[in-house]
Amino acid sequence: LSEKLQNVFKNLRSKGRLTEDDVKAALKEVKMALLEADVNFKVVKGFIKDVQERAVGQDVMNGLNPGQMVIKIVNEELIRLMGSETTEITLQPGSAITVIMMAGLQGAGKTTTTAKLAGKFKLKGKKPLLVACDVYRPAAIKQLQINGEKQGVEVFSMGDKNKPADIAKAAYEHAVKNGNNIVILDTAGRLHIDQDMMAELQEIKEAVMVHQTILVVDAMTGQDAVNVAGSFHEKIGIDGVIITKLDGDTRGGAALSIKAVTGRPVLYVGMGEKLSDLEQFYPDRMASRILGMGDVLTLIEKAGEELDEEKAKKMTEKMKKAQFDFDDYLESMSQMKKMGGLSSVMNMMPGLGGIGGGKMPDFDSEENEKKMSRMEAMIQSMTVEERSNPDLLNPSRKHRIARGAGVDISEVNRMVKQFNEARKMMKKLPGMMGGRGGKKGKF
Ligand code: GDP
Ligand code: MG
Repeated sequence: LSEKLQNVFKNLRSKGRLTEDDVKAALKEVKMALLEADVNFKVVKGFIKDVQERAVGQDVMNGLNPGQMVIKIVNEELIRLMGSETTEITLQPGSAITVIMMAGLQGAGKTTTTAKLAGKFKLKGKKPLLVACDVYRPAAIKQLQINGEKQGVEVFSMGDKNKPADIAKAAYEHAVKNGNNIVILDTAGRLHIDQDMMAELQEIKEAVMVHQTILVVDAMTGQDAVNVAGSFHEKIGIDGVIITKLDGDTRGGAALSIKAVTGRPVLYVGMGEKLSDLEQFYPDRMASRILGMGDVLTLIEKAGEELDEEKAKKMTEKMKKAQFDFDDYLESMSQMKKMGGLSSVMNMMPGLGGIGGGKMPDFDSEENEKKMSRMEAMIQSMTVEERSNPDLLNPSRKHRIARGAGVDISEVNRMVKQFNEARKMMKKLPGMMGGRGGKKGKF
């Protein structure tokens, strides 16, 4: 953090809670940003209302001003709405064939994305079969064949004289004989939502078992994305969404709208015309793009890091004074989880940088993580007095704690013993610092 920014933070540092005025003022800006990003206005309205309710009265995080705190909440809420994590296309177990049907308006990117997906599946060792179900434009069949060839995957077509449902059925039978384990149906779109198109997709679903229906949407659909996604979902039911053309300069508000009306996850995003330009969808990146407040979000993130550092500083002070109690123990565990081990806490102590690693127990393995959450449960079962005065713990109190945390008494004993050892070690630390008071350096 540059010095200038640090000063900004000092000036803005305000504790307390978010007032209705704080929230309203900041949300005005957020509303503009979302509309500019082409999030559907109804979705924006609902979203703003939810955040308004959630944000008023919340504590303002140290290092942030109220406006930034609201943005932080908005960002978290956007990420949560878009699904928090990445989602994969669900495949049938074992060697069973998964049938994927691509749906979407004309020009959305279905044919291109079909070939892009085939490449991804091939890399995973699958054997996809692409099926030309768009019988309205001869060029569409050719386009799929060319793209399939580029990807080195087989394309099944029956020209333009058959019904899409019949082609799908024949393709499935071909896949069974041919040993393909994924069948991707490239269907025909229309310029607008259209009964014919929906009926055709429905017929395909009746002719073959479709496991995944994937809606392909052009990111530039903007405000209309809600209607497009809503209609497809209502008429044929979709399982996931791919948003194309995010390489353009649209902010991608469609992602939020679509998720809001269908509840279905965005799986991938198209980032260009090349067949390799298909990327996993990351809700956090998308939230930042939609908000278009990258700078503010970076500030917020930095403030969060600073806060952790501040806590660690306080902790090491306590360690040095040997006033370490169970509350600190609990806090240190959650810090360690975030910071990657006790050794990094040690490294932050003046004059102790070197001794961390080797001598400290390893808190970082997965097994220890489980142990740590049981330790947390035990400490949380202690009374306030017990936590701040560890010497209070007698056998009957320990029994009560064991019951509270759902662990054996021996585990409580072990934990208390470990805690006492840690405390003893910390008492020795100031002496190990060599009596010269340590370096001021970092603090
Ligand atoms: P379909 O009608 O839904 O099958 O759409 P196509 O696959 O034929 O794509 C329509 C146009 O969009 C083509 O020119 C594609 O090259 C282009 N396209 C598809 N996906 C993307 C993308 O992610 N980025 C960009 N820039 N162009 C894309
Ligand atoms: Mg097409």
